[in-house]
Amino acid sequence: MKLDNERPSDNIEDRRGQGGGFGFPRGGRGGGFQIPMGGGGRGFSLQTIILLVAVYLIAKFVFGVDLIQVITGGGGLQPPGQQQSETQLPSPGGQSTTQNNQTQPGQQTGQQQTTDVTGDAGKDFVARVLGSTERVWTQKFQAMGRQYQKPTLVLFSGFVQSACGMAQSAMGPFYCPGDNKVYIDLSFYQDMKNKLGAPGDFAQAYVIAHEVGHHIQNQLGIAAKVTQARMQVSKEEGNLLSVRMELQADCLAGVWARSADDSKNILEQGDVEEGLNAAAAIGDDRLQRRSQGYVVPESFTHGSSEQRVRWFKRGMETADMNSCDTFGTDQL
Ligand SMILES: [Zn+2]
Repeated sequence: MKLDNERPSDNIEDRRGQGGGFGFPRGGRGGGFQIPMGGGGRGFSLQTIILLVAVYLIAKFVFGVDLIQVITGGGGLQPPGQQQSETQLPSPGGQSTTQNNQTQPGQQTGQQQTTDVTGDAGKDFVARVLGSTERVWTQKFQAMGRQYQKPTLVLFSGFVQSACGMAQSAMGPFYCPGDNKVYIDLSFYQDMKNKLGAPGDFAQAYVIAHEVGHHIQNQLGIAAKVTQARMQVSKEEGNLLSVRMELQADCLAGVWARSADDSKNILEQGDVEEGLNAAAAIGDDRLQRRSQGYVVPESFTHGSSEQRVRWFKRGMETADMNSCDTFGTDQL
C-alpha cells in the first residue's frame, strides 16, 4: 500500500499502556471480529487467565483480599507474566509491554510489506488509513446530502473500557456504536499474520475499513434497526441478521478501498489478493474449523470465507455503497 498521499487522521486516541480499568463486559457488543484465538485443549485459555487475573485484582484492590495469599498462604505463586502485564497500571510515558515484539522496526517479512505494527509506525499507519476513510466517506456522504461524523480510533493494549462495556484484545478489533469509536489493539495484526495466515498492510487496512463500515451503518441508522430487529427474532435468525451486517461492513470496506485507490492510488501489486486472503481468513467457517475442528453454519455471525470475500470484492468492484445491500438479497 502507498499511503503517502493520505493525510493522517487526528482522531486517534492512544490508550496503550493504560490498562482498561475494571468494568463488567456487557453482552451484545457487536461489530467486532471476535476471533477465537488459540483453540482449546491447551491448558488455560487467554480469556480464562485474564479473567482470573481480573478477579484477583478486583479482590485485592476493591475488597482488600489477596487471593494469592489466601490460596497459597502467602507463597510465591505468580500469575503468568504476560497476562499480569495485560492488567498492569500505566508506566509513565511507557509503551505497553504486552505485545510480543517479533517484528523489529523496518524489518521486512517475506514478500509482504509489514509495518512495525505495535510501534509508532503502526500508529502512523492506522492514522493514515483512518484519514483515508474520512476523506472517502466525507465525500460520499456529501454526495448524499449528508454530513459524515468522523469516528475516533482508540489504540489500546490488553483491556479497554468502551461505552459498550469492557473489552479485551483477544476479542479482536471492534466498533462501539455507543461512543462512535473503533477499538484496536495493534497486536491483532501480529495474530493476523502469525495465527490466521493473513499478513500484509492492505489486510491490516481492511480491518480498520471494516470497523469504519460499522460506523457508516451506525450513521445511516442501519445498526439501530438491526439491533431492534434482533430482539424480535430467534437466535438463528438473529445470527443471520448479524451476518448481513458483517458482510455489509466488508462491502463498505471494499467501497472505501476502491474509492481511495481511484483518487490517491493507494493500492500496489498484491494488495487486492492480500485483502481477499484476509477476508477469507476471518470467515466463520475457517475460524470455527481452527478453534473447534468443525463448522456450525447456524452459529455464524460474520459470514463464511466465501461470502466475506464476495462482498468485499463487490465493494471493490463497484465503489458504490448502493451495491452493498446485504439485507435486500437472497444471495449472500
Ligand atoms: Zn464486523
